[in-house]
Amino acid sequence: MAATVIRTIADLREALRPIRNQGGDIGFVPTMGFLHEGHLTLVRRALGENDRVVVSIFVNPLQFAPNEDLASYPRDLGRDIALLAGQGDLIAFAPDVTEMYPRPMATEVSLPSLSQVLCGRSRPTHFQGVATVVLKLLWIVQPTRVYFGQKDGQQVAVVRRMIEDLSVPVEMRVVPTVRESSGLALSSRNIYLRPEDQPLALSLQEALTAGRALLEQGERRGPTVQAAMRAVFDRHPEVRLDYAEVVDAGGLEPLADVRGQVLLAVAAHVGRARLIDNLLLDVDAAAVRDALT
Ligand code: AMP
Repeated sequence: MAATVIRTIADLREALRPIRNQGGDIGFVPTMGFLHEGHLTLVRRALGENDRVVVSIFVNPLQFAPNEDLASYPRDLGRDIALLAGQGDLIAFAPDVTEMYPRPMATEVSLPSLSQVLCGRSRPTHFQGVATVVLKLLWIVQPTRVYFGQKDGQQVAVVRRMIEDLSVPVEMRVVPTVRESSGLALSSRNIYLRPEDQPLALSLQEALTAGRALLEQGERRGPTVQAAMRAVFDRHPEVRLDYAEVVDAGGLEPLADVRGQVLLAVAAHVGRARLIDNLLLDVDAAAVRDALT
């Protein structure tokens, strides 16, 4: 098992030429590195479903606002490559910023209606940066399938809509959120949590569980479910809630009546970390089920 490290777009295209010419399936997992079991779960899924797999490691400056953690975002390429090599034969595509953006981008991909809600309220330029880099990476790799984690639920909605709107010829696969045994969703940013923050970080999961419990009791009023989620944070004044909402999973609109494929989504500041989490549920009159299994 080995990871072939490729640093340029031209070399990656060259490396993928034989498999493309043979009609083989290419799986693609975009990441920002500092890999953990969540990323590796996506990688294993891709390895199981494709003839060749590309994992990109690129901390994309376009998706960070000037006041955010671009400079301090955790990076450890050597460790990432070793972790990837442990999964199977694959290509690690690790371009530097000048390779991806040799000059300022004059092009941007934006989906305003999906980008200004939830995380977009505090990160108004974030999803434009995400959509732009994802489309660029999809053009570079031209994969058969691309893999995303449900952990970033709004990102999934944005990328799915972009792929549909622009008829991008790729199959999107979404993998359920991988959690620690405590329930905390794995995230590269968990490294920012101090030991005393760990129990507070569980309040996000607690809020999602409270929202789900109400739905399971038959409650379908969106504002009532949201209030129950927010109430969890009244008990944790050290945690600064950004939002706790119940929205339609596709369009991300708030729901008065909670039915269909819905996203319970939470974001909060715990110590130095801004954490997000969500539950994707299928809700009908009688039942509540996990939408992804
Ligand atoms: P990132 O490196 O944070 O940009 O994440 C790269 C990909 O891994 C994205 O599709 C994320 O949604 C996914 N991912 C990150 N954390 C998790 C997790 N805990 N479970 C599942 N997927 C994840």
